[in-house]
Amino acid sequence: MAVRGWRPAAAAIAAARPGGGGPGAAPGAAPASGPAPEAGAGAAAPATAALYVHWPYCRKRCSYCNFNKYVVPAVDEAAVRACLVREARTLLRLSQVQSVTSVFFGGGTPSLASPGTIAAVLEAVAGVAHLPAGTEVTLEANPSSASTPRLAGFRAAGVNRLSVGVQSLDDAELRLLGREHTAAEARGAVEVARGLFPGRTSIDLIFGLPGQSRGAWARGLEAALGLCDDHVSLYQLTLERGTALAAQVWGGALPTPPQDLLADMYQTARTMLVAAGFRHYEVSNFARKGALSTHNLSYWRAEQYIGVGPGAHGRFVPRGEGGHSREARVQTLEPDNWMREVQSQGHGTRRRVVLSPLEQLEELLALGLRTDEGVTRKRWGCFSPQLSLEAVFGAPGEAKALQEQGWLILDSGGLRCTMKGLALLDSLLPDLLCQLQRCWAPPAMPEEGSCARLQHPEEEPIGGSGAGGEAVGRSGLAGAVSRNIQSQNR
Ligand code: SF4
Repeated sequence: MAVRGWRPAAAAIAAARPGGGGPGAAPGAAPASGPAPEAGAGAAAPATAALYVHWPYCRKRCSYCNFNKYVVPAVDEAAVRACLVREARTLLRLSQVQSVTSVFFGGGTPSLASPGTIAAVLEAVAGVAHLPAGTEVTLEANPSSASTPRLAGFRAAGVNRLSVGVQSLDDAELRLLGREHTAAEARGAVEVARGLFPGRTSIDLIFGLPGQSRGAWARGLEAALGLCDDHVSLYQLTLERGTALAAQVWGGALPTPPQDLLADMYQTARTMLVAAGFRHYEVSNFARKGALSTHNLSYWRAEQYIGVGPGAHGRFVPRGEGGHSREARVQTLEPDNWMREVQSQGHGTRRRVVLSPLEQLEELLALGLRTDEGVTRKRWGCFSPQLSLEAVFGAPGEAKALQEQGWLILDSGGLRCTMKGLALLDSLLPDLLCQLQRCWAPPAMPEEGSCARLQHPEEEPIGGSGAGGEAVGRSGLAGAVSRNIQSQNR
C-alpha cells in the first residue's frame, strides 16, 4: 500500500541514521543537546509526540511472558487494522499533535501483521500529523516471522528500524524460554534484517535464566556480538506470576538464579559491550555509532507519547478536548473489547489520570535517571520552573549522600547516575523520590525524615465497562511506565 506523504525508501533510512550525535540527528527527534520543551502541569507543551502501536497477537506463549498478548486461532486482521487506524487518527486529533517524532510497532508479535497493516497505520498518521521523511519507525520482529520477503515488505511499508527478539543463541535456553524459534533461525533473521536495515537492527537478549552460569552467558553474549548490528537490549529474566517458567521455579523444578550471579552477569555484559564499542546509554540498552533508539529516548526524557492498540500506554495533553494537563492513559487491554470501543467511540481509552506536577517530576526522575544523560537542568526546568534541580538535590539530604558515596552526579549538566550507580538505580530511587516529595510539599510531611504519602490525583475511568480495564494506581504509575517500556523494548 502506498503511503501519502511518507518516504519509506532506503534514502529515508540513510537520512534517519543517527550519525554519532545521538537521537537528535534523526529528523523530527528531540535535540540531543537538550530536552525538547515539555509540559509541566498546564504549561504549553510542544505539539509533537512519539507514537506506540500495539499488535496484541502471538502464535505461541513464551514461558516467561506476561505481556499483553493473545494466542487466538484466527485474527480478523482487516478489523484490527481498521481499529488501529481509527484510534491513531482519534488520539492524534485529540492530542492536537502536529508532528510525530517516532513510531514503534510493539506487541505481542507485530511481525505477524501484514505489511499492509503497518502501511495503513503509517498512512493514517501521515494524514493527520506531520511524519517527517526519515522519522524512526521501528517494528519488533520475532525470528519465526522474519523471512526476507516479509521484512522487505515491512521496509516497503515504511519501517526503517527493526528490533529482533533473539533472546538467546542457545537452543536449550530457547526451549526453556518457550520460544518458537531456534538459534539458527534467530541468526538467519538478524542477518536478513541487517541486510535490509543496515545500522538500524537491534537485538534483544535475556540473561539470568534458571541454571545459566556466568560463563554460559558470557559465551552467548560473545556469539551475539559476532552477529549483532549497532544496538543491543539486555533484559534480566523476571519471573512473573502466572507464567509457566515462574511456576517451575517456584515449584522447585528449576533453580532460582542467585542475586549475586545476576549482578555479575550484568557487569560482565556491560564490560563486554563497552569493550566492543557500545555506549551504555540506558540501564538495559547499548548502542554504538550513534544508533540510539529515538523512540525509547522519548519515554526516558518524559516527552509526549501516544499509545494506540490494546493495553497501550500514553502520556500527553489532550488539547483537542480542552485539556491543559498531561495525562497518563491506558487503552483497554483485551483486543475484542478494545475493538468494540474503538468502533463505537473512535478510541479504546480505558483509564485516564491527570498527572499532578509532582507526579510528572517523579516520572521524569525515575525515567531520566535510567539514561547516561540523566535529568538535564533544562528538562527539569520545563517541568518545574519554580523549584530547580539544585534546590531539590543540591541541598543536604539523600542525594548529597549518594553523591558523596559515588552513586550520583549533580553538575552543570544535571542529575545523573555514575556508571556504578546506574546498575543500582532501583535502590537509589526511593531516597531520591523521598527527598523530592519533602522539598515539594514540606507542610505535608508528617514528621521529619519520612516521606509524604502521595496524594491520589483525579482518576477518571472512561470508555466501556467490565473486563479488560487495567487499574492504574497512583503508586503504580512509574512501574506501569517501566513495564510498558520494557514490553516495547523486548
Ligand atoms: S515474549 Fe513476545 S513472542 Fe513471546 S509470548 Fe510474549 S509477546 Fe509473544
